[in-house]
Amino acid sequence: MIIAIDGPAASGKGTLARRLAAHFGLAYLDTGLIYRAVGARTADLGADPADAAAATAAAEALTLADLARTDLRGEAAASAASKVAAIPGVRAALLDFQRRFAATPPGAVLDGRDIGTVICPDATAKLFLLASAEVRARRRAAELQARGEAGIYAAVLRDLMARDERDSGRDVAPLQPAADAILLNTDDLNADQVFELAVQAVGRKVGGGSAQD
Ligand code: C5P
Repeated sequence: MIIAIDGPAASGKGTLARRLAAHFGLAYLDTGLIYRAVGARTADLGADPADAAAATAAAEALTLADLARTDLRGEAAASAASKVAAIPGVRAALLDFQRRFAATPPGAVLDGRDIGTVICPDATAKLFLLASAEVRARRRAAELQARGEAGIYAAVLRDLMARDERDSGRDVAPLQPAADAILLNTDDLNADQVFELAVQAVGRKVGGGSAQD
C-alpha cells in the first residue's frame, strides 16, 4: 500500500502523512527533507543552490545521516531546497531512493510535490492538499511563533509565495495534482477533519472505490 500526498508548502502534508502512516501501519518519508538536505550540503560546499553541477554532486553523495541534520527546518533551508529541486540532475539522483522506500513492505506514505505524478504514479491512493497562501502563511507563522522563532506573517507569506512560484513553474516535476489525485481543500478544515476525510478517501480506494474518487 502506497499513499502519495502532494501539495504546496505549509498545506499540512506532514501532519496528515504522519497520522495516516500510524493509522495504516506504514512507513513515512518526508521527501521535502531530502531536498532540504541537498540544499544544505550544497551550501556547505560554498556553492549557490542554483549551481546545477554542485547541487547534483551533493545529491549523488547524500547519505541518511544528512537527513538527521538539525538545521533543515527553517525557511532558509526551504528556500535552498526549492532551488536545488528545480535541477533535473538532483531529482534524477534522488528518484531511486524514494521509489525503493515506497516499494518496501508493508508500504509507505510519502509526502512531497511529485509523489503522485513522478515517484509513485501507481500509488494506491493519491491526495493533493490545497489551501490559500494566506491560510498557509497564517498557520506557518503561528507554528514558528509557538517554537519561539520569528514568525512575521508578511515575511512568511512572501517566502511561501516565492516558493510556490518556483515549485509550480519549474520545468521538471512541477507541483501539480496527478490526474487521479483526490483534491482536499483544507482552508476551512482543522487537522482532525483533514485526517478523517483522508482516511475515508483512502478507504474508498482500497475498497475499490468508484471512478469519481
Ligand atoms: O515539503 P518541504 O516544504 O519540506 O519541501 C521543501 C522544498 O523541496 C519544496 O519547496 C520543493 O521545492 C522541494 N520538494 C520537491 N519535491 C518533493 C519534495 C520537496 O521539489 N517531492
